[in-house]
Amino acid sequence: MAVLSNCKPERVFHYFEEICGIPHPSYHEEQISAYLVEFAKAHNLEYYQDEVYNVIMIKEASAGMENVEPLILQGHMDMVAEQEPDCKKDMLKEGLDIEVVDGYVTAKGTTLGGDDGVAVAMILAILEDEEIKHPRLEVIITVCEEVGMEGATALDVSMLKGRKLLNLDSEEEGHFLSGCAGGCRMDISYPFKKQQISGNLILVDVKDCTGGHSGAEIDKGRANASHIANRVLAAAVEVADINLVDYVGGTKDNAIPRSTSVKLVTSDEAVKAMEAEAKAILNEYAVTDPQMKIDIVNEGNASVAAVNTEDSKKIVQLILATPDGVQTMSHDIEGLVETSLNLGILNLNEDNITYACALRSSVATAMTSLMRRVEMIAKAFGCQVSVRGVYPAWEFKRNSDYRDELVKMYEDMTGNKAIIETMHAGVECGILANKLQGLEAVSIGPDMLDIHTPKERLSIASTERIYNFVRKVIETRK
Ligand SMILES: [Zn+2]
Repeated sequence: MAVLSNCKPERVFHYFEEICGIPHPSYHEEQISAYLVEFAKAHNLEYYQDEVYNVIMIKEASAGMENVEPLILQGHMDMVAEQEPDCKKDMLKEGLDIEVVDGYVTAKGTTLGGDDGVAVAMILAILEDEEIKHPRLEVIITVCEEVGMEGATALDVSMLKGRKLLNLDSEEEGHFLSGCAGGCRMDISYPFKKQQISGNLILVDVKDCTGGHSGAEIDKGRANASHIANRVLAAAVEVADINLVDYVGGTKDNAIPRSTSVKLVTSDEAVKAMEAEAKAILNEYAVTDPQMKIDIVNEGNASVAAVNTEDSKKIVQLILATPDGVQTMSHDIEGLVETSLNLGILNLNEDNITYACALRSSVATAMTSLMRRVEMIAKAFGCQVSVRGVYPAWEFKRNSDYRDELVKMYEDMTGNKAIIETMHAGVECGILANKLQGLEAVSIGPDMLDIHTPKERLSIASTERIYNFVRKVIETRK
């Protein structure tokens, strides 16, 4: 007996449950992609599967709708795989253990992948439904959205005729996302040679910072554990020599690091300076990061391989000089961050220290300028710099008839007020808008809570409202 068989819309939750039964974390979409291809074949749809496993499906217009402009429906097939520490599931091999709790679908011990499995489920339910009147439907289901939108970037869109897109990858009902920042990642590497050094080995351990998404939550002013650790080190550098032994922080490019740990050899005087700086920092961040701890522990005399004094100092200066957090706020949209960056993963290796910065801006020229700044600072220190994962901004259109129609329809259907918004994080609409000249796009979706965490849950009632809304959009296209 299916777990979701009593949930409505029945066919949406039928497909959602099937999707939950197929492992589909980012970079592991082969199976789910094959499932979509099988669906297309079984329903006689024109389909395209590319080498990265993106799938495009096309359903020609129903009778009487042949002259209506095609509509593009879009979601992504990959999910973020996160699990509770005590959950033993192998998310690359096993399906999820879904259940219904208080009107929400959730997965025991793991993320649910409602983001964005529910979009795929809604799209399949629409494609199989022969009752719906529809223009030519062009469906795009991408891979690797969650890890830098690589699927959308690689996508060939030459078979698409539509210039109106309904993206289904938002997680707050009633919010009509209509623009987003562009971004890129910069990898910076500073070379050095280690040497054997003896002295007091000190551990500086910054942990339990609040963290968060490097785009959506960069405006909160939360502590970046690596910059915090570096501030503590800078206090030491001011009064004494230091020799870095280890320096590691962050787990993801697109997350604000919650913990960073440093080992160094230095003097007692430096330890005192670091302790005073740590105390000041804890006071400064008492509101944003109330759980933050900065432990400074003397591990005793040791002889270790460490970075020489000059390079250790330069590394601290380099990170201190690299901008961090919000750079400018938008003048167009109140409360929107325009340009920011986040130092994500930092690692001291055998012969270099590397760190990655995620840059974002809704203004292309502002991003270019920030890239130049980060690069010039790094190069002045003798670093190697490389750029990857560049994606364009999705520019907010002040006037859009398409968006106005959708908003009015939603408000009439639900009696709720729609909110038009833009985001300081990447969404695939930006990439598609840059590939399809003249594209008008809106991103919506049903209510989901705590996405990308094992507490993720999907509202059943909201899914039904959004599904009915999407059907109505399709049926009323003119
Ligand atoms: Zn998503």
